[in-house]
Amino acid sequence: MTSIRHFIESWRDRFKEAGIDDARLNAELLLAHALGVGRNDVALRLDESLSDVTLKAANALCERRLKHEPVDYIIGRREFFGREFHVEPGVLIPRPETELIIELVRKLQPDLAGRAADVGSGSGALAVTLAVEFPALQVLATDLHPTPLKVTRGNAERHGVASRVFCARMDGLSAGASGFDLVVSNPPYVTPEEYPDLQAEVRDHEPKEALVGGPDGLAVALRVLTQVAERLKPGGYLLMEHGMQQGNALREAALTAGFAEVRTERDYAGRDRILVARA
Ligand code: GLN
Repeated sequence: MTSIRHFIESWRDRFKEAGIDDARLNAELLLAHALGVGRNDVALRLDESLSDVTLKAANALCERRLKHEPVDYIIGRREFFGREFHVEPGVLIPRPETELIIELVRKLQPDLAGRAADVGSGSGALAVTLAVEFPALQVLATDLHPTPLKVTRGNAERHGVASRVFCARMDGLSAGASGFDLVVSNPPYVTPEEYPDLQAEVRDHEPKEALVGGPDGLAVALRVLTQVAERLKPGGYLLMEHGMQQGNALREAALTAGFAEVRTERDYAGRDRILVARA
């Protein structure tokens, strides 16, 4: 019989050998998922034995992780701004730095109501969180691909805001109406040169179209910026995530596009990360 302790420790070692970060945490999360319990339950039941059925299922999950599939895809969820979002291959896994966009909106527009858009919604982390945080807000979530729109819709339902989150398939905000009070976006912004060096988890499993932003990594962001400049209400904000070396270029482009005030916010590591542009 295999105990929970033995399972966790042996997978921890195999994960470590494969260069996987947070090896023990990963083993615990995957076993907890196979058992249908929380991670704490697993950590508290180390001496219990695993049934053959559970062991087989949990081993299969760990084998996937060993091939560097992101743990969030395997368990099908990721936390964003304190809430759980379903994620699956085809949508970018929300990153902690993207939460900054929500924090900034809360500071800049604490009474935000009216209409917002999330350009390139992915899992819907931004669109759905905005709808939950601002109960008088209607949010248009756009994406070029069907999987993100399906996942966004599901997450909107899960968080009880499906009646205020509208999903539409389009390129950026190309077919969107105008008069938005806020537009947020986490466009692809990695350069083709950086792409091969991304972690295997990201490069081999997350959608390339959500990562690589054209030849210089900036093409998509610049297109979004220009589209949004024409569609915000005067005084409305664009908050867009970008690469750490793209702050200058995007501030300049935003001024050229006609934004009135432009600045760059840094992420938790002190790197330029978010363009804040006021129409
Ligand atoms: N920060 C992401 C990463 O490198 C990139 C996200 C994006 O291109 N929007 O993992």
